[in-house]
Amino acid sequence: MDVSTLPPQPGEDTWAFVDELKAPLWHHHDWTVRAAADGETSLAAGVQVIPEFPDPQGRLATAYADLDRFLAAGKVATGTGPFRIRTVQVEIGTEEAFRIEIEPESCRILAGDCEGIRRGLFHIEDLMLAAEGPLLPLGCSERTPFIRRRISRCFFGPIKRPPKLRDELMDEVNYYPDEYLNRLAHDGVNGLWLTVEFRDLCRTRFTPECGADAPQRLAKLRQTVDQCLRYGIHTYIFCIEPRAWEAADPTIQRYPEMAGADAYGKRKTFCPHSATSQAYLEEATRSIFAAVPGLGGLINITHGERPTTCLSTASAVGVGAVTCPVCSALEPWEILHASLGAMERGMHAVAPDAELVSWLYMPQPQGPVGYQLAPWVHDIPAHTPAGVILQFNFESGVTREFFGRELMGGDYWISTPGPSDRFRQVAATARAAGTPTSAKIQTGCSHEVASIPFVPVPSLLQRKFAAMRDLGVSHTMLCWYFGNYPGLMNRTAGRLSFEPFPEDEESLLLELARRDWGRHAAPAVEAWKLFAEGYANYPLTNLFQYYGPMHDGPVWPLLLRPEDAMLSPTWLLGSTTTHEPWPPSGDRVGECIHGAFSLAEAVELTGRIDEAWTRGAAILGELRNACANRPERLRDIDLAEALGIQFRSGRNILRFYELRERMLRLNSPERLQLLTELRAIVEDELRNGPRLVELCERDARLGFHSEAEGYKYFPAKIRWRMDQLQGVLDRDVPQLEAAIRRGERLFPEYTGQAAVGPRARCVQHENAATVFTTLALPDDLDWHEGPARWAFTRDETFVYLLVESTTRAAVTLKLEPRRLWPVTRHVVSCTPSEDCRAVETADAWRGALRISLVDFDRNGAGELAPVRIDVQQSAAGGGPQTWLPQHPQTHRLCLGNDNPADLGWLHFA
Ligand SMILES: [Zn+2]
Repeated sequence: MDVSTLPPQPGEDTWAFVDELKAPLWHHHDWTVRAAADGETSLAAGVQVIPEFPDPQGRLATAYADLDRFLAAGKVATGTGPFRIRTVQVEIGTEEAFRIEIEPESCRILAGDCEGIRRGLFHIEDLMLAAEGPLLPLGCSERTPFIRRRISRCFFGPIKRPPKLRDELMDEVNYYPDEYLNRLAHDGVNGLWLTVEFRDLCRTRFTPECGADAPQRLAKLRQTVDQCLRYGIHTYIFCIEPRAWEAADPTIQRYPEMAGADAYGKRKTFCPHSATSQAYLEEATRSIFAAVPGLGGLINITHGERPTTCLSTASAVGVGAVTCPVCSALEPWEILHASLGAMERGMHAVAPDAELVSWLYMPQPQGPVGYQLAPWVHDIPAHTPAGVILQFNFESGVTREFFGRELMGGDYWISTPGPSDRFRQVAATARAAGTPTSAKIQTGCSHEVASIPFVPVPSLLQRKFAAMRDLGVSHTMLCWYFGNYPGLMNRTAGRLSFEPFPEDEESLLLELARRDWGRHAAPAVEAWKLFAEGYANYPLTNLFQYYGPMHDGPVWPLLLRPEDAMLSPTWLLGSTTTHEPWPPSGDRVGECIHGAFSLAEAVELTGRIDEAWTRGAAILGELRNACANRPERLRDIDLAEALGIQFRSGRNILRFYELRERMLRLNSPERLQLLTELRAIVEDELRNGPRLVELCERDARLGFHSEAEGYKYFPAKIRWRMDQLQGVLDRDVPQLEAAIRRGERLFPEYTGQAAVGPRARCVQHENAATVFTTLALPDDLDWHEGPARWAFTRDETFVYLLVESTTRAAVTLKLEPRRLWPVTRHVVSCTPSEDCRAVETADAWRGALRISLVDFDRNGAGELAPVRIDVQQSAAGGGPQTWLPQHPQTHRLCLGNDNPADLGWLHFA
């Protein structure tokens, strides 16, 4: 693909959604005048709001002003008229709970705190929206939250991570403009998190070198806290503390007792047990909370991401161990108890109402079923210090059956809503021990598809919150960097956090739809159900989230000519190591499904998503004319259509390569039919491109990925891809068609059918199994010489790699089991196992490795297709001795740095 013509990433000045979020929430209600029906009362003759609720800090000013603007947008006079809305203080018990009493001439909103009044004011707005007029239903109703904190994050705020390393506390930008906060407050969000580090914010007596810019950062943090509290939103700082030390850190030169074990190269873990460590952690948290009155709390990843305490050398799935001499004598929970206890004391000494949330970030495993969490993890919920809330990923470890196989997902799933068994277990233990529990979820969207503001699937959120309610969860962190845009999904989470809990999915969807879609609620509900039904087929493997085509398929070139081009990370624009842009993803589609699905299965699943989504989007699309005066609903219709184009594109990409690979392996005229189907896919994508451009041009949210801090797709890049597609139709298709008509093989050097490049031969041997057992290595094989001599043989069940080595170093086979799939590694060593045999001689060792043929590619005739391999041996005092020269690619999470060009062929004789 030609990346030299790629258009540049749009600048931040094109992020038009920022201004949209600042615009007034209410401008014009599309209401038709009607008289009150039975059981209703009308506010049309004017409303006087009588704010009796005591509010010395003026926290409710924004809510009263909002109601005024809401009524004005419905042409209802305020400050005069017969209808009275009173806010009244009563003892109601729970923060944010409220009661509403509506009579013919008045409405009373009763609550025990300002936030209950705020919720009540918003609730009567919702009732009028559902009635499509200034009308309220007579009678009483109550709402009480069981999820007390619903913590989200700014959609466009800096992530304080590479490559941009933007820090929101160090710039002058207001990331929390009033009407944005007003939207979030209406959605039920009452917390926002932002990232900090102690070394930036805290100059303690132990760390005098730190906090050079702390005054500036703390000032911005105070400003943020105050702004947000005006909308009932608490600010939480998020951090991963206490950080492991750099070996040269002056603090641990002065206080060596604060350092634990050597780990992670030139670093040392933070040992929390010494009096010095305790005093440091207390002082750090105390200093922040003393400097920022009203700060809501601190969310800390206590274990699982980045090195922190001495416990971080032991992984949640039992790999590694605690090596600190002090901590290794303790139970793992005691290590966290020590660090959290000190942080809790420091915080609560100056901010008794602030909350410390300890997040155990344990997303493993991200692949097939098998791992279990280490037993010590399950000790933590019952041994969390008093005053600390335990947070756990709601879906990590979630399992589901696909095609008769059980698969397990890592973090961040909406399509498979969870909870995982491990979350249930952790929450149950915490509840029994009296430890409050927070569920880390994704609300608007997740790594499944994060290049849009949200995926409209409220039914799937209902399943999450129903389980939280059963499990006694009291807090939820609603999102990572993405999945937080105001609108349907946030509001669903807000609604589902309150009692009375909707009786069933149908009543939830109708309630949500009546508020937004009024008389068109029924078709909206029907569309949402289809969206959820389709989305539930999202392939349950994190690789599909991280590298799959659902985020930005409309800018993936379609390569009819094989290029063996890698897939790029979905959450990044640029490489964190080279700061170069990642190229558009190529044809190595196995990288996003391997270990979980075949290409045909991925085509099937994305096909189900596409089909259900298309039907749902069509139902919403029919409401365009009816909603011509409801710009917010037109945005919802556009969003559903854009997502439909993305999903169609994802399906098309997978199907394209499925067909291409089949065509390249045939040598018959049937290839013309496959080529026709390939051309039809390109044409389908060419039809969808211009429509997506149109949608992007009127909605700047489309294509934006909050973690990438930029656009995964945008009009110029979609057009770039359309040029590429046109080139395929104009040049590649005719050339391949001519080659097929001439009866030529297509790209035989790519399929291994041509004898090109380095090759090894795998000779079938009737005694191969005996060779594996006896290690009496036959000479009549294709032996390759080197420090380790190696050859392949096979029978009907296994391929065997035979090795003879003069050094004790293990030999690794890198095997690409089929074209476009990542390599797997198989080790032959002196340590035998079921599939590895070895025998040592005086000055050498011999070994054999067997690999089942089940996963190997077979061509149309059922014969084993050639595969690509490298054979490597680690050499003393140097890099590995490899069969072929190595040219590693930029490292990719879960996929490493293998370069498919560094492989040679293994032919099966
Ligand atoms: Zn330690």
